[in-house]
Amino acid sequence: MKYIDIHGHVNFPDYDADREAVFARAKDAGVGMIIIGTDLESSKRAIELAEKHDDVWATVGVHPTDDVAAVFDYDSFKKLAEHPKVVAIGECGLDYFHPKSMSGANIDLGAQRELFLKHISLANEINKPLMLHVRNGVGSANGGAYQEAVAILKQHSKVRANFHFFAGTMEDARAILEIGGMVSFTGVVTFARSYDDLIKNIPPDRMMSETDCPFVSPTPYRGKRNEPVYVVEVMKSIASIRRENEPEVAKQLLENAVSFFGLK
Ligand SMILES: [Zn+2]
Repeated sequence: MKYIDIHGHVNFPDYDADREAVFARAKDAGVGMIIIGTDLESSKRAIELAEKHDDVWATVGVHPTDDVAAVFDYDSFKKLAEHPKVVAIGECGLDYFHPKSMSGANIDLGAQRELFLKHISLANEINKPLMLHVRNGVGSANGGAYQEAVAILKQHSKVRANFHFFAGTMEDARAILEIGGMVSFTGVVTFARSYDDLIKNIPPDRMMSETDCPFVSPTPYRGKRNEPVYVVEVMKSIASIRRENEPEVAKQLLENAVSFFGLK
């Protein structure tokens, strides 16, 4: 393994037609991956896929806004979370950006916090890190989802957290770093220059690489379905923005993930 995509959804139906080819392309390029659960079914599916492939791991959890009807049954998730290939709890967290869920229902911020707290309890109990989905709102009193997530973690979490698809401010990043958190960047960094200052200023041992596939393909694959092998483009952009050489950045990003998630 030379590279790692620490957050992708190869368990989604988007890959039903050619999933094994997607795994084969990743393997040929030396790309390992962590497949992310967003509800009970997709979490089970992530574990099944991790069982069948080397250098593939899974997380289990309920996404804060994808499906507001999804329930977090603690005992069912605990059983899944104990699996040796499960390396984190999530994705879970606070999303103040999307006022409606994918199914069109209004988002209840109180319910999001409750759901987040249940994931933290489970992570504490089984001592695995958290995979967080956090997004600030725009210009509202509830704009500061990152700061609120950090405050909740400070009070309740005994484990470390990675903030996936990090899109906060440098101030948000500082608060995360202060509590021992990590941030991960997607293919967006290949085409949106608004991430450059974050990437330059966050310490190299506190960031990781991901695709969030099937979403947000990096340049030069924009508009196509994303997949884990494209994480190499994310690494290249990070190296170019930091003016560091690619093999060293790749090695650091991999080491960060291996140590943060305890990959073996
Ligand atoms: Zn995701």
